[in-house]
Parts: sequence; structure tokens; C-alpha cells
Amino acid sequence: MSILIKAALVENKRKDIYIEDSRIVEVAESITTEADHKISGKSKAAIPSFVNGHTHAAMTLLRGYADDMELMPWLEEEIWPTEAKMRKEDIYWGSKLACLEMIKSGTTFFNDMYWEPEQTIRAAEESGIRSLIGLLMIDFDKRGSPGEIKKRLSGISHNKHLTRLSIDPHAIYTVSKENLAWAGDFAAKNSLPMHIHLSETRDEVEDCINKHKMRPVEYLESIGFLEQRVIAAHAVWLNETELDICKKRGVRLIHNPVSNMKLSVGNVINYKGITARKIPLALGTDGCSSNNSLDMFDDMKIAALLQKHHNTDSTVLPANEIFDIATVSGAKVFSLNSGEIKEGNDADLLLINLKNNLLVPHHNIISNIVYSANSECVDTTICNGRILMQGRKVEGEEEIIEKFNEHAASLAR
Ligand SMILES: [Zn+2]
Repeated sequence: MSILIKAALVENKRKDIYIEDSRIVEVAESITTEADHKISGKSKAAIPSFVNGHTHAAMTLLRGYADDMELMPWLEEEIWPTEAKMRKEDIYWGSKLACLEMIKSGTTFFNDMYWEPEQTIRAAEESGIRSLIGLLMIDFDKRGSPGEIKKRLSGISHNKHLTRLSIDPHAIYTVSKENLAWAGDFAAKNSLPMHIHLSETRDEVEDCINKHKMRPVEYLESIGFLEQRVIAAHAVWLNETELDICKKRGVRLIHNPVSNMKLSVGNVINYKGITARKIPLALGTDGCSSNNSLDMFDDMKIAALLQKHHNTDSTVLPANEIFDIATVSGAKVFSLNSGEIKEGNDADLLLINLKNNLLVPHHNIISNIVYSANSECVDTTICNGRILMQGRKVEGEEEIIEKFNEHAASLAR
């Protein structure tokens, strides 16, 4: 299949974009090649689609279910008991709704950690978006044991163009030293990335110091866990020594500003320290019960505001930087061939409606996207060379919402 986008704004110049199969083949002032689909780029800007660096897609089922609580009681009394009741079909429909929401808000890749990963894979591949899907390890649930992970990995089938797999120990406080070490070895043997929640709260740090006489990153370093395959979400409480270790080991970090603020984790990611060391950084929404949406527009704006507020410096994390973190840097963190509108890249991109009231006037479009826009400004979402949304319409939307609502309601009963 081929797509020709005519005269869309690409970085301040009107250009045509020619897509063949899954790739952007040409970006030029005038392309005359015939295409199966022709899209007018008039009043539109073409921008790279967003990379959601950390989420739990099926947690859409728990949106609004237990808000305004502290992290540990929230997990122990509300989230984990409800998750224990979730069946495979619940997780499938929860993930379907998440993918719908991501397409509608311009995200075409997500990094996910949840139970029943086969269901999330099924939902994401049917929806046509890319993902890194984790096999979740937690000591208190049999499904998260090394034996189960090993068995599960050998049984999973997936479309390699859209989906990749990872090994996901939940956190240092839910996975034992032995199992963390096992995860490191197993991921290395199978050449898979690892995804973990790291240094999210002060309690996590203090417990680690009490138990191991070390801070979380030092602890993971001491057991040989840290290496380039590690993707760490949150990383809110890392001190300078820990950032040095992350840099040395090639660890990639994910910033989740909305979730951190909502769960009141009590600190702010050390953005200046991360950029000074050039540690790879992506942006993530986290799951729908700690955000409560999967909308990267919100996270871009709040990330920028949070840094300015925290540093008492309005020049920190300007619009173009957070936009890059949500797109091209995110793509690098996850080794995606996307994040920029250029020849040879995978065709993962958006058309933004420049006539939307939130995007006028056009003094600085990136600034408008970060500080003013919301997902309603996304007109068209393309992933892997397929049009997943056009004119804000996604195929099967009503059915997904209806089915999802049935499953969410029965879970809460
Ligand atoms: Zn999370």
C-alpha cells in the first residue's frame, strides 16, 4: 500500500510525503508518484508520532477506580486485589481501549508491563500500533515466577514488525535478589531488554538502605543487574552517584511526571543531571490509575512545567526539548526507526489540524503543541504505513468502548 500526503507543513516548509508499505520513501517539495491513498496536507502539519515510554495499558479498566490515595495502600488494598480478579478477556478489552486512546492522542508505540501479555499483544497488533511488551515478574504471584516466565516466553507468538518482548521485574521491593539476578541472566541469554520501576518513592530508597545498606541503583549494580538492556521508569530519587552508575552502565530512563505528581512521590526527576550526563531519556504516562489518561500532550506540558517550577527557572526544559523527548529521543531509547519525518524512517507520523483553535496563531507550532494543544488537535495517525485514524475516526471505536465498559463494570462488581 502507498500513501501520498500533499503539501503538509514539515518543520516550517510545505512538503509532500510519500509512504510505501511501512516506510517513508520520499519527503520533497513536489512528488508526482501515484499512490493508493492521497491525503491533503492543507492546514495540517506532519509531525512524528509519540513514544509512550512506560505504561500498563490494561489499567484503563481501573481509571477513576481508586484515586487520591497513597502509593502503598493504593497498591495493596485497591489495585493488586482487583488485578487478581482480572481475566484474560478483561485485559484484552482494557488494552484495546488503551490502544484506541493512544491512536486518538497520537501515540504509536508504548512500553508495557502487565499480566497476561499475550492479550496486550493481541490488542496492540489488531490496533496496528507498536509496542514493547513485558513479561511481568512479581514474587507474590505465581504467574511472575522465573519458571512461568520461561514457559511463557517460549509460547508467545507476535508480529516482529510491531511487537518486541522484554523481561520486566516489577521493582526491587516486589522481586527478590535471586529473582532479579535470574531476570538479568535470562534477559541476557535471550537478548531481551528489561523494564523495571526504579526509585519511585522515598520509602523505596529508605527500605533499600535499611535492608541492603545501599541505595536502589547501587543495590542493582552490586548484583550485576544494571546494563544497557535496562529501562528504568520513574528514577525520581536518584542521587548524583546513582546517575553516574546509570550513565556508566548505559541504563535508559523514563520520566513519568503526571504519575509522580498524582501519587505524590515527593521529589522531581533530576532532569539537569540526566541531560548533563546525556543519559537516554523518554517520556511515559504510566498506567491509567495513576495518570489517568494515556495522553502524551498532558505529560509533555506537565513535564515542562514541573521542571520550571522545581528549578525556579523558566528556561529549563523548553518546548522543543520535551517534544523531542516524546518523539525522537523516545524512539532512540526503544531502538525504533522513527521519531522524525525523513526518508528511510518507518512511517509512524501524525497530521495535526492547524485550524484547531488551540493551534492558532502559528508563531511557533511546537510551542503550541506542547503548551496549548490537546489530543483533539490530532487529525490523522499513521503507524507502520497504515492509516489508523483519519478525520479523528478510528474503525470499530464504538464497539471497543461498549465492550470495554461491560468488562470494567463487571470487574468492579
Ligand atoms: Zn508503572
